[in-house]
Amino acid sequence: MKHYHYIFTGSGLAALMTVYEMVLSGKFEDKSILLLDENSKKTNDRTWCFWAENKAFDEIVSKKWSSAWFKNKKFEEKLALHPYQYKMVKGLDFYTLIFDLISSQKNIHFTTQKVIDFQELGNHCVVKTETESYSCNQIFNSIFHPEIVTNQTQYPFLHQHFIGWFIKSKEAVFSPDCATFMDFSVAQKGNTRFMYVLPTSETEALLEYTLFSQELLQKEEYETEIKKYIQKLGCTDYEIIEKEQGNIPMTCYPFWKHNSKNILHIGSAGGWTKASTGYTFTNTIKKSKALVQFLNKESDFRKFHKTNKFWFYDLLLLDILAKKNEVGAAIFSAMFEKGNSTIIFKFLDEETSFWEDLQVIWKCPKGLFVKALLRRLF
Ligand SMILES: Cc1cc2nc3c(=O)[nH]c(=O)nc-3n(C[C@H](O)[C@H](O)[C@H](O)COP(=O)(O)OP(=O)(O)OC[C@H]3O[C@@H](n4cnc5c(N)ncnc54)[C@H](O)[C@@H]3O)c2cc1C
Repeated sequence: MKHYHYIFTGSGLAALMTVYEMVLSGKFEDKSILLLDENSKKTNDRTWCFWAENKAFDEIVSKKWSSAWFKNKKFEEKLALHPYQYKMVKGLDFYTLIFDLISSQKNIHFTTQKVIDFQELGNHCVVKTETESYSCNQIFNSIFHPEIVTNQTQYPFLHQHFIGWFIKSKEAVFSPDCATFMDFSVAQKGNTRFMYVLPTSETEALLEYTLFSQELLQKEEYETEIKKYIQKLGCTDYEIIEKEQGNIPMTCYPFWKHNSKNILHIGSAGGWTKASTGYTFTNTIKKSKALVQFLNKESDFRKFHKTNKFWFYDLLLLDILAKKNEVGAAIFSAMFEKGNSTIIFKFLDEETSFWEDLQVIWKCPKGLFVKALLRRLF
């Protein structure tokens, strides 16, 4: 059985970013690393967007916006994002960047195999794929099994689910300098539903019909809503260039409880997805850097996780949305209508002081949050 120092079970965003940080640090050249994924990661399977002040991954950013619309039925505001920019990275560009880097590292190997099991056996671990078995000192796992969250009731579990169409229209209907972050003017139908629009030119955009809810929809329902929205924009003649779909877990479930001395869950499987928004890219940049620093000092993976106040804020929001899914539009609208968007983005990045937290939280419907707080406390 071939032995490695580290094995990554699943080689998507979190694994590749961690390996990228390991290579950049220059401190892992003596560690043999195996990356396993059932997918060869050679397709553009997702588009990541995130807001950032810094230039992280700018070499593969395909589009940037310095402002974004927030809309609902009665109100619309062009949010100035400064000092942030909203950025788009195509999945395939990210995979290519990292695999190009890995290909020049003698100690790092990638193989396309489906993992069927992994275990810690005393001082070493064993990973079984459909065709082979490997042993290693430690495992980073990013294969997400939703059952661990659905089999419990203490922490609500919502999905951020969507279908996106990247379209090219004959008419110039988009403003390429401004994204639409959330447009709640679409019918809510008892849920939290919004449209998300990323224009890349006057005639091209990615439009995503998105829900934060417990139940998924039939494919036709997302697509009917996208068609209606495109029509509302005054676009009558267009072609669909690409489609994407996603289902991102939104939960405060303490994934870290499953970490052991030699197995660390990372990415969505490790709770790296921001529970209240589904955004994972920025968190993964931060966590992978923190993880690589941690590995230089520590080896017991149970010591890696740290809880913060934002985990509890997210928990309250998810408690509310799980009980009253229809109030999402009102909560996000109150926040953006009355609040300062820069502080809101800083808050969602988990970088605000307690005083700044209050400036955001105070704008939200207080009754809902007080009730949620009391339910959690008692
Ligand atoms: C379409 C889409 C769009 C998104 N857009 C954004 C966005 O704009 N901004 C943002 O911040 N977040 C976004 N997200 C959320 C999040 O950033 C991504 O889901 C991100 O890829 C999560 O990283 P991860 O490493 O946890 O999981 P993944 O990147 O999904 O990696 C897990 C890997 O495990 C592999 N795998 C699964 N099972 C097995 C198995 N049995 N054996 C071997 N390999 C296996 C998969 O093939 C995959 O490569 C989006 C998600 C999706 C799906």
